[in-house]
Amino acid sequence: MKTALPVERAPSALRRNALWSALLLLVVALLVMLVWLAGLYEANQVQSRLERDVAEAESDIRAAFMRNAQGLQALQYSDPTPNSWTMDAATFLREHREIVRVEWRDNALKPLAQVDTPFRTPVFDHVGRAALQSEVMLACANARRVGGPAYAGSYFVPLSDGLGFEAMEFCLPLQKGGKVSGYLIATYMLQEVLNGLLARQITRNYEVSFTEGDGTRLALSGSGRSGSRVFTARHLMDLPGTTLVLRMDSWRAAPDLFPNVLTALVTAMSIALVSVVTLLGKDMRRRFKAEKELADVLAFRKAMEDSLVTGLRARDLQGYTTYVNPAFCQMVGFTVDELLGHSAPAPYWPPESGEENRQHQLNHQPGQVPPREGYESIYMRKDGSRFPVLVIEAPLINAQGVQTGWMSALLDISEQRRVEELSRAGQERLQATARLATVGEMASLLSHELNQPLAAISGYAAGSLNLLRDGPQGAVEFGAELTLAMQRIAEQAERAGKVIKSVHDYVRRRDQVREAVAPQALLDAILPLVHLQARQLLVRVQTEIEPGVPPVLCDRTMVEQVLLNLARNAMQAMDFPHILERSLTIRVRVPKGQGAGKKWLEFSVADLGEGIAPEVQQQLFNPFFTTKAEGMGLGLSLCRTVVEQHGGALEFAANLPQGTVFIFTLPASSVA
Ligand code: ADP
Repeated sequence: MKTALPVERAPSALRRNALWSALLLLVVALLVMLVWLAGLYEANQVQSRLERDVAEAESDIRAAFMRNAQGLQALQYSDPTPNSWTMDAATFLREHREIVRVEWRDNALKPLAQVDTPFRTPVFDHVGRAALQSEVMLACANARRVGGPAYAGSYFVPLSDGLGFEAMEFCLPLQKGGKVSGYLIATYMLQEVLNGLLARQITRNYEVSFTEGDGTRLALSGSGRSGSRVFTARHLMDLPGTTLVLRMDSWRAAPDLFPNVLTALVTAMSIALVSVVTLLGKDMRRRFKAEKELADVLAFRKAMEDSLVTGLRARDLQGYTTYVNPAFCQMVGFTVDELLGHSAPAPYWPPESGEENRQHQLNHQPGQVPPREGYESIYMRKDGSRFPVLVIEAPLINAQGVQTGWMSALLDISEQRRVEELSRAGQERLQATARLATVGEMASLLSHELNQPLAAISGYAAGSLNLLRDGPQGAVEFGAELTLAMQRIAEQAERAGKVIKSVHDYVRRRDQVREAVAPQALLDAILPLVHLQARQLLVRVQTEIEPGVPPVLCDRTMVEQVLLNLARNAMQAMDFPHILERSLTIRVRVPKGQGAGKKWLEFSVADLGEGIAPEVQQQLFNPFFTTKAEGMGLGLSLCRTVVEQHGGALEFAANLPQGTVFIFTLPASSVA
């Protein structure tokens, strides 16, 4: 994984469509072929069954003919007389519908006896038996030639009702003493041969007929047409003296959509196949859509990563860098290839903070969630320059919910640092200016305060000069007074010096360092200045420090300024003619109910002034908000900034029964 995930290009839509069309065509062709083959197979099955059945039917008829010949032969066994023969023959005919007439003739073919079938009116009455003599002769000629029973070709026998039937003569030569003594002639009715000698099964299922060689039908039996497709099978029936063609037609509904189980099976499978292909097609379409959406999401993600100014870096659990975004490369000045695959130490770790960075890396154990605020570190650009970064880490979880590494967001905070430094310097300058402004405001008080010692000094000096006017003896005489005057001058000069020093101390710019300071020391530093104003405004100043309070950990100059600002505001709030009792109380104590951890000290500055009107309360801490003619409105805003920088809070409340109390907290130093 570099700056982008590799997205496999999908084949062009045209090519994909062509492939799909080819697949569909192939499937359709295959299915059509399958159905056609199944139909062909089934037709072959029907045809071969038909062939088998026609062969069986032919052998059935042939066997029946054979049995009939034997039956006829049997009529002669007991040397019958024409009369007895006639009775036997009549019995025989009753059992054989297919034979319409049996004749016994002598060896010159003269009739000796004949019997007609009892099932119909004698068939030869209409044409006369004599007219058919040639057929009989032909059959018997055949019989003589082959030396056994023989047949003659079929012929049409017209009937009196205009119809007729196809008949075939059978001649059985009768032997006596090795010579032909006569003939038995049987006339077969071909129609009845088909009706009577074939199995019911055959005539029910097929149309069976005797035909001539050219296809002319001679007799027909069986079911009628019941379909559009015909299967035909022919079989030659070679009889002595003649040949018949037995033809069988099977009528089938064709094309039959489901001719048999196989075709149905193939069709069902085809439908299933088409359904599967359709479903697959749908699935593919969904997949293409998902792929396209994924590609869009990836492109969106890449655009987002590329436009980020935050550096992103991913590491696997072994610490090898697996991903960096362009912002990170720009930040450190290395290329993607120079960064990927590196484990500790990374090329952007400066040698001096390599160990610290390694510790940060080792501290992260899989399953732990690192702090959201991150940690700060120093990184090194390729040119060797250092810059501060804020590193925020989060576990990298894959789609299966398993952690595969760490993702870090890195912010170059050098600009932030520069702005912080500028703001700190600005804040410091503002504090110094505010201090100077305070002193400026207090200039008249100062001159007044200095006036007294200076006047006293000048008075003592004038008195001393008077004593000395009389020369050295005066000095000797008033030595004691002069010494006292000099002491007073020195005391007053020292007092004036103290006033000047307190102002100097306050104004002097000191380093901003947090140190442990005793609360008493803080008050001592500002009280001379507070007293200056208190004397002018006739305010009584009280300080109450709870015994045993620990020192505060603070920037001394700043906290002094806070205390002085609050004290001055308090005194100014009581500067009204109607307020007679003017008292300023500064208290320091340890608030009750603190836990075992960090301890806090509470400072409060209370006055007996007018209090703060509700509309003023809302804007109290806004910079430049003031109700005073010569006020700057910076005091409280600065106080709050300073207190909050120390981690404390500045609040105010009504001071019962009258006035206001400002309360702020500062951390106690652990070195109590
Ligand atoms: P400034 O003193 O220059 O006006 P501050 O920020 O110190 O600026 O005070 C803002 C305003 O808050 C004051 O003008 C005053 O109206 C009000 N204020 C501050 N302290 C008190 C107090 N102890 N009692 C009543 N009003 C006060």
